[in-house]
Amino acid sequence: MPFEYAPALESRAIVDIKPSYGLFVDGQFVEGHGTPFKTISPATEEVLAEVAEADEADIDAAVKVARRAYDRVWSRMPGRERAKYLYRIARIIQERSRELAVLESLDNGKPIKESRDVDVPTVAAHFFYYAGWADKLEYAGRGDDPQPLGVAAQVIPWNFPLLMLAWKVAPALACGNTVVLKPAETTPLTALLFAEICQQADLPPGVVNIVTGAGATGQALVGHPGVDKVAFTGSTEVGKAIARSVAGTHKRVTLELGGKAANIVFDDAPIDQAVEGIVDGIFFNQGHVCCAGSRLLVQESIVDDLLERLKSRMSTLRMGDPLDKNTDIGAINSGEQLKRIRELSEVGDAEGAERWEVACDLPTKGFWFPPTLFTGVSQAHRIAREEIFGPVLSVLTFRTPAEALEKANNTPYGLSAGVWTDKGSLILKMASSLRAGVVWANTFNKFDPTSPFGGYKESGYGREGGRHGLEAYLK
Ligand code: NAD
Ligand code: MN
Repeated sequence: MPFEYAPALESRAIVDIKPSYGLFVDGQFVEGHGTPFKTISPATEEVLAEVAEADEADIDAAVKVARRAYDRVWSRMPGRERAKYLYRIARIIQERSRELAVLESLDNGKPIKESRDVDVPTVAAHFFYYAGWADKLEYAGRGDDPQPLGVAAQVIPWNFPLLMLAWKVAPALACGNTVVLKPAETTPLTALLFAEICQQADLPPGVVNIVTGAGATGQALVGHPGVDKVAFTGSTEVGKAIARSVAGTHKRVTLELGGKAANIVFDDAPIDQAVEGIVDGIFFNQGHVCCAGSRLLVQESIVDDLLERLKSRMSTLRMGDPLDKNTDIGAINSGEQLKRIRELSEVGDAEGAERWEVACDLPTKGFWFPPTLFTGVSQAHRIAREEIFGPVLSVLTFRTPAEALEKANNTPYGLSAGVWTDKGSLILKMASSLRAGVVWANTFNKFDPTSPFGGYKESGYGREGGRHGLEAYLK
């Protein structure tokens, strides 16, 4: 290292974390009837707060409240009036953005520069974007007078807690639905702060309800007969269970599941830019990204040069306190996830791939895994097929565009892909043949509320974002 960085800590004084939180139902915080659980900071294992667990009776109450708010208030309100609430929420998110970013980094472990510069601004943008649709739904492509579905049950994961909430809540409300949302058990705090924002925005009670708990709470929510729509983001395994549980009911479902994206680098690519894109693709958010570029496909003629530059760039990544503004890589979200990452990496060793990791001192407390890459990976290796959901890159090579395509599409998933080349025609050829919902060209992990996002195959179905995202919430 040419020089050391002095610590640049973001203050946590801006957030007022309560010792305990209830459920948010009918515009108020109420007690849950399950067993309260603790949420921790994965960087230090410090307990941040105790959070209520919603049991079946709590879920039943929340769904009934959401139904009443739907029937009496929200579905009857003109779109332009609903829009005012969404604009208000978007502006409050901007006003309270530092608070939201600090709380997200504390509860999730992601670096403050990401929560501050990516997550929270994208959250606000999502509310602004769908606020704009609320009075223009006749142009959504669902007929002259499209109608909402009713009560939406929404279950989200821990990797982008507030952003996944925004992807779910903003289009649902814009279309006139009411929601009961369950955040992930390791990251409930920003959803509960969002509940306060709903109060601050004077959102009519019952339009947004937040119920906390783990898998059983989620299961009770999606299984409740009073919900009309289920929206889920998380693992393919749970997604399949949800699809089975709602089969044969009237419920509409969208599923956003795992991925194993190919990031394909051709020999004419701008190589330093590609290295930045590879790093962003797999090490952004500690690799806890469903669309992470976790399979690097490199054209054989440039593989040595590229790997040398990639390793040297990886060696400059700074890992540590998520609240330090210089931090690039934060903590792994939970002990359980760390265990999964370790196990799959050991499978990589056992299958004969070669592991290289950044040499760094890991903090003694909390959950940490160094940026890692595997070379000598073949398509049959589990580290080339299964989602690791951590900062681990599997490197494969190819010789021709046809071989790159075949390898890229050889996966049960199909969420995203990346293509790096100087040739526009090759970008178009690859993009039209890659079986992935999103294909980035000469960039990676770019998100915009106007752009639909979603999967092929085991990555799920339905789209979130853009005009397409409205279809999931309209009859
Ligand atoms: P998960 O699917 O178990 O959890 C996601 C959400 O679903 C959480 O809120 C959880 O409480 C809830 N849930 C769990 N079981 C449920 C059930 N039976 N019915 C309804 N809701 C249920 O994911 P996880 O255990 O947090 O992570 C496991 C794997 O999932 C990761 O290793 C990764 O591969 C994948 N994952 C993908 C995404 C994504 O964005 N696509 C996000 C997180 C995790
Ligand atoms: Mn936590």
